[in-house]
Amino acid sequence: MNKNIHQNKTDVIVVGAGPAGISAAVTIARAGYEVILIERGTFAGSKNVFGGAIYTQAIKEIFPDFETSAPLERKLIEHKFAILGEDDSTIVSYRKNHEQAVSYSVIRGKFDRWMAEEAKKEGVILVEETVVRELLIENEKVIGVKTELEDYYADIVILADGVNSLLAKQIGLREDIEPKDVAVSVKEVIKLDKEIINDRFLINDNEGCVYQLFGGSMLGKLGLGFIYTNKDSISIGLGITLDELTEKKIKPYELLNQIKSHPTIAPLIKDGEVIEYSAHLIPEGGYKKIPTLSGAGVMIVGDAAMLVNNMHWEGTNLAMISGKLAGETAIVALSKKDTDEDSLARYQEAIEKSFIMKDLYAYRNLMDIIHDKKEVFLDIYLKKINAFFEMFTSVNGIPKRELYRKFIFNFLKERSLKGLLSDGWAILRLIWSILVK
Ligand SMILES: Cc1cc2nc3c(=O)[nH]c(=O)nc-3n(C[C@H](O)[C@H](O)[C@H](O)COP(=O)(O)OP(=O)(O)OC[C@H]3O[C@@H](n4cnc5c(N)ncnc54)[C@H](O)[C@@H]3O)c2cc1C
Repeated sequence: MNKNIHQNKTDVIVVGAGPAGISAAVTIARAGYEVILIERGTFAGSKNVFGGAIYTQAIKEIFPDFETSAPLERKLIEHKFAILGEDDSTIVSYRKNHEQAVSYSVIRGKFDRWMAEEAKKEGVILVEETVVRELLIENEKVIGVKTELEDYYADIVILADGVNSLLAKQIGLREDIEPKDVAVSVKEVIKLDKEIINDRFLINDNEGCVYQLFGGSMLGKLGLGFIYTNKDSISIGLGITLDELTEKKIKPYELLNQIKSHPTIAPLIKDGEVIEYSAHLIPEGGYKKIPTLSGAGVMIVGDAAMLVNNMHWEGTNLAMISGKLAGETAIVALSKKDTDEDSLARYQEAIEKSFIMKDLYAYRNLMDIIHDKKEVFLDIYLKKINAFFEMFTSVNGIPKRELYRKFIFNFLKERSLKGLLSDGWAILRLIWSILVK
């Protein structure tokens, strides 16, 4: 084990100080190996965008005491699922008690920076404002990285460079992402007084609320919106697949503006000041697009490995746990002085045994089914849910039996019996693949 960098040679280089990279780096440093974490941003988190929620279980595996010192915004106790019609909405809400809550809203600029500082305290060498341009390869093995300034060498390089991972593409571990397998996400942070947020979302000081938004400006399109409450701001945004944007020639910020002016959403953000606007990509390909996760001298973690569970809006936890598993594989490989392909393939096995691959496998057919049926599931059915409640709550002197019959008649006009059967079959196939095989 080196304790100093000799001629730029170290035990492990990790590229990218997001949740995946920091988790990998700190796991390795704790075992006494030397690890350099290289980040292109001015500080860890400066380039990172998300909704969003971080999940207690995963962070505790890396930083067990994080709740005492991490910059957390609010503990997310309420989850609202809102179907937006043109000017109406149906909202289903689930509220946990404070102890049951499993996630916190955070601002990534602050949270990633905190994680990186904690990692530094445990021996990780953080090199910021440095872009890794390419991987150095010798005899088909990754032996280091080329940055703008100098070359660094290592026994193992871990790629935690996020969704685009140009480095994984350089060595053929990743192909270009197809437009249907990636969502473009835009997000605004809107400043509002803490008390106003508490009143509008019916929460106390440290409690938070999440909205998942279906429909609205995204009716019939493969996209979803979100709202997260922070301490004294609200994060509001949406993600929509790149193929939708190009096919329909729409701009994501126009869709976001429409959501912001929807009668259900506008009062929540009224008089707020937009203090941040950002855009980012989210991997949406799921299980079928996960690349080979390792090679000689190299492993790939987090978004770079396409490890995102888009059904449950989980990305940071998969990033942290994949980083930890890659870190543990590196420790064993270094102790045996064997960092070749077979040795690092243990990382792939560890991911397959973990919840990460099991969850992504369960949802392997989700995106195909949704792509096939988006005009039905994300348009007709969403509208019909609102239409049902509109009918159910109307008081207009028309007998209820007549109202129900008219509703069913209109439904069947839009979706034939054959269509309904095919939709039911698609749902059964999906449930079967999630629950059985
Ligand atoms: C709008 C939005 C909302 C989301 N909401 C949630 C949510 O609520 N909950 C959740 O769990 N997940 C959410 N996600 C997903 C989550 O953000 C990602 O899954 C997670 O950040 C992946 O972590 P990572 O470390 O793999 O990659 P990243 O967080 O992307 O980190 C990659 C790091 O690598 C650096 N880097 C890249 N290339 C280089 C290079 N060549 N040299 C040096 N450094 C480099 C980048 O600057 C960055 O710091 C959301 C994503 C988006 C876009």
